[in-house]
Amino acid sequence: MTETAQQSTGVEGVDGGVGVTALLVAAARAIETHRHDSLARDVHAEHFVRAAPASANWPVRIQQVPDGDADPLWGRFARYFGLRTRVLDDFVLRSVHGKGMRQVVLFGAGLDTRAYRLDLPSGCVVYEIDRAGVLAFKRDVLDGTSARPKAARVAIALDLRADWAAALTESGFDPAAPSVWLAEGLLFYLPAAAETHLVDTVHRLSAGGSSLAYEVKLEKDLLSYRHSPLYVATKEQLGIDLLDLFDTEPRPDSAGSLAGKGWFTSVHTPFEFTHRHGRGPLPEQNDALEGNRWVFAEKG
Ligand code: SAM
Repeated sequence: MTETAQQSTGVEGVDGGVGVTALLVAAARAIETHRHDSLARDVHAEHFVRAAPASANWPVRIQQVPDGDADPLWGRFARYFGLRTRVLDDFVLRSVHGKGMRQVVLFGAGLDTRAYRLDLPSGCVVYEIDRAGVLAFKRDVLDGTSARPKAARVAIALDLRADWAAALTESGFDPAAPSVWLAEGLLFYLPAAAETHLVDTVHRLSAGGSSLAYEVKLEKDLLSYRHSPLYVATKEQLGIDLLDLFDTEPRPDSAGSLAGKGWFTSVHTPFEFTHRHGRGPLPEQNDALEGNRWVFAEKG
């Protein structure tokens, strides 16, 4: 698989390269947590933000943002991540409680704390896959708090551009039992071949009834959004150029591929969930979120 610009920088932890995006989502979740109308709560998020030099000065409350909700980064983007967290929390909870799954695999887990936050049934195992530096940072921060996971948690340090199936099964994952898979905020950082490999491998390792949710960006030309308020604000306020981190190769039709393998798929804009939950981002001019889609799939 090809090396992308963002992933050849050698930065392995959360202080640069693609790892810093995990802090961005954590800061958004911290802000969301302390809102009176929050859609998702993550009390661990602000500990990550404060612990990393790259983000120690970022806001963790909307009141710390001069323009508040009107700020394109900490207002709108944080609303987006708050909604995404809630929708995917609900997806995981439906899968484990409604469908009895006991294996949860988080691709590009970053600073996701679902193993600590969600009411997961006994016997549930959460596999968290990310790069070694990100997982080490996460462990160090959580070890310094009184946080205890509510489910067995297995951290698997690897690069998802390489084959990962053996590492997962050697860590105890059972392909014969149904599972719930999540790729939240990940696939657009991976080369197209790695996305195809991930989806094909999920199919191969999924027993009938397994569920997968993931996020994609459908834009044919991501760079045409370079001047969108969201990308400009992220670059100006944080020095992070998200477009340099995204993989700009043409994307595979992963939902189509899953449907062709017998999965039931549905593709949604985030805005649909904004209407459903009464809060979240709405479409705007020159919108960096225009092509974002949340895909839900169940193996028949
Ligand atoms: N899913 C988490 C969430 O929503 O809070 C984290 C999302 S963060 C935007 C993207 C994550 O993907 C980062 O933690 C990053 O380290 C991870 N990632 C990106 N490329 C990766 C790769 N090639 N292998 C493993 N993890 C990767």
